[in-house]
Amino acid sequence: MNVIHFENVSKTYNERIALDNFSMSVQPGETKVILGGSGSGKSTILKIILGLVRPDSGQVYVEGDEITELQEEKLMEIRKKIGIVFQEGALFDSLTVKENVAYRIMDSKEYTREQIESWVTHLLSFVGLEDTIDKMPSELSGGMRRRVAIARALMGSPKIMLYDEPTAGLDPITSRITCELIMRLRDLENVTGILITNDLRTIQALSAEVSTQSPDGSIAFKMVDPEQLLEKNRFMMLKGGRIIYEGEDPNLEGNDSCIHDFLA
Ligand code: ADP
Repeated sequence: MNVIHFENVSKTYNERIALDNFSMSVQPGETKVILGGSGSGKSTILKIILGLVRPDSGQVYVEGDEITELQEEKLMEIRKKIGIVFQEGALFDSLTVKENVAYRIMDSKEYTREQIESWVTHLLSFVGLEDTIDKMPSELSGGMRRRVAIARALMGSPKIMLYDEPTAGLDPITSRITCELIMRLRDLENVTGILITNDLRTIQALSAEVSTQSPDGSIAFKMVDPEQLLEKNRFMMLKGGRIIYEGEDPNLEGNDSCIHDFLA
């Protein structure tokens, strides 16, 4: 079963076409990398999945549920299955790092305080920031805040992750750490993802490296033959709400407009 499926979806805002008869499927464990210039419709795809925007026509399925006609209450349930990392990585400034990461389940009666605390610690160690648990966001660097935002997105172990330009505006080291987190979720947690990015380094890493975990828990990244990653990465380029390339090749081979020209 497809985890996410768009069937002939169109969306126009005041006569501006955002998606034009757009169809796509995302398989379990796949990371769909969506590229495209500004205004090509990328964010609209994510907003539709989250039920923040309703398409004018077409169907959208999340884990088999058709979501375009759902009421807000049901949409909330769908959203709970999905982790989101947006570019701004906006944290709540008046809450501590712990409270930010726990936010989604803070009011839940299902978990004890200890359970929440141990979950937060686990997620912060996943992003390498366990020492910041009692800090305020204002005490962190921009890159650290973005990693806290990833930890927050992972609360509840979502099986679907949406990333909207997660490395944009980051320094190379934090960008690499963020990219490694995405690969770990893809390779070690079998998370299904949609990644909007125009960051060539991230695209190259995703298409050439896999993360592995040793029995002692340590994580490594190794270069592999791109053939081995065909099942995991699918690339799509959009222009004017339409797909102009779809396939496994990060260089978008066979496409007239070379990726480098396009992204320049
Ligand atoms: P991208 O994420 O690729 O930059 P978007 O999905 O944000 O593209 O936008 C696609 C098109 O829809 C653009 O032409 C944009 O100007 C338009 N658009 C997006 N959101 C709105 C909105 N809320 N109101 C009007 N036009 C919008």
